[in-house]
Amino acid sequence: MRYGGGFLSTQLCLLGGTGSIGASTLDLLRTHSDSIRLHSVSGHRQLSSLAAIANEFRPARIAVPDAPSVDQLTPLLQYRPDIVLGEAGLVELAQDPEVDRVMAAIMGAAGLPSTLAAAQAGKTIALANKEALVMSGDLLMQAVQAGGAMLLPVDSEHNAIFQSLPTGYRCGQSVAGLAQLWLTCSGGPFRNQPELDLSQITPEQACAHPNWSMGRKISVDSATLMNKGLELIEACYLFNVPARQVQVVVHPQSVIHSLVEYRDGSFISQLGQTDMRIPIAHTLAWPDRMASNTQALDLTQLQDLQFEPVDNERFASVELARQAAQAGQSACIVFNAVNECAVADFLAGQLPFDQITQWVDRGLQALASAPITEIQQAIACDVAAREWYFKESA
Ligand code: NAD
Ligand code: MG
Repeated sequence: MRYGGGFLSTQLCLLGGTGSIGASTLDLLRTHSDSIRLHSVSGHRQLSSLAAIANEFRPARIAVPDAPSVDQLTPLLQYRPDIVLGEAGLVELAQDPEVDRVMAAIMGAAGLPSTLAAAQAGKTIALANKEALVMSGDLLMQAVQAGGAMLLPVDSEHNAIFQSLPTGYRCGQSVAGLAQLWLTCSGGPFRNQPELDLSQITPEQACAHPNWSMGRKISVDSATLMNKGLELIEACYLFNVPARQVQVVVHPQSVIHSLVEYRDGSFISQLGQTDMRIPIAHTLAWPDRMASNTQALDLTQLQDLQFEPVDNERFASVELARQAAQAGQSACIVFNAVNECAVADFLAGQLPFDQITQWVDRGLQALASAPITEIQQAIACDVAAREWYFKESA
């Protein structure tokens, strides 16, 4: 008798197809074209790579930001797909009745409406867009439940935790017998350089992650450890635990992708290469398994797995995230919005690296908390935090 292994026949909507997660997803689709079809794709303003994706995979529908983008894209296409526009277009693709699985891989707050729409429409959602969850965790989890959607975390740590939870677990449920969740953290590129003046770090240095190859914004977040802060908040919502039950441990080899500690002293974890195609393959095939085109981990080469505490003096992000998670949804929105603005300024050469976290801290102190019971309030809170940042940093 064999467990699992049913036939896969998936119509996939890929939101954020031109990004790093998008590229890894498409790489998997190339070798699994018999079981997963790209039904629709978005790629924002990267229109030439969007055209290349479209011409190769022939999705029936494509989302672009506006009418001028249609004029630019159309001559590059070798066929005539249905092209939809703007945020409404992304929502339409996510809710399309022909789609059964949505890869939510847009970067930042821009991915929120389409992710929420996929939840309301009861899709199986592979969720990479952690900022959407940080901004609207309660609302998104409620929509998942009300819509009968299935949320599968793509973020490698949360994917590892999901895989380490009991079979049949659905995100949003609490787990009997859980002691705490352990998020592993590479420590970023500056962990071993205590003498380094963080104010002098350039975008190129910050984007050179030791273990993972990723988009620029998340690479900066990894260097400030803001990424781990966002992931702490993400874990609270996904796995229905308070912030005090989520711990972060530095594990420079990034082999153990995170752990679940149970009340009886058992630690369960998922191990693998540092290649996002592994968690992506898990979320594309779930509840089955499919090949991820990656090299298997050679256990005999794992000689030294290290673990150390986070240096909270140098990198305040994780504790700031814990405060935000404890304060509630609007503080999490401020945490995310001010970080996004500060990272954009840093990448544009307009803000020193060490001030990213300081701005987030200042934002959390300056902005009063507000009730968030509907999505418009979450968006308004996000906009207010960005306006505050632009005014104060001008
Ligand atoms: P990326 O910057 O490489 O790609 C982002 C994608 O979003 C692109 O397709 C881009 O066109 C689209 N996009 C950007 N702004 C948009 C807007 N305003 N409207 C519509 N679309 C827009 O980012 P990435 O590294 O692929 O990350 C995507 C998401 O996955 C992020 O939320 C990130 O935190 C998360 N994530 C990424 C990794 C990774 O290894 N790259 C790991 C875990 C989680
Ligand atoms: Mg991660």
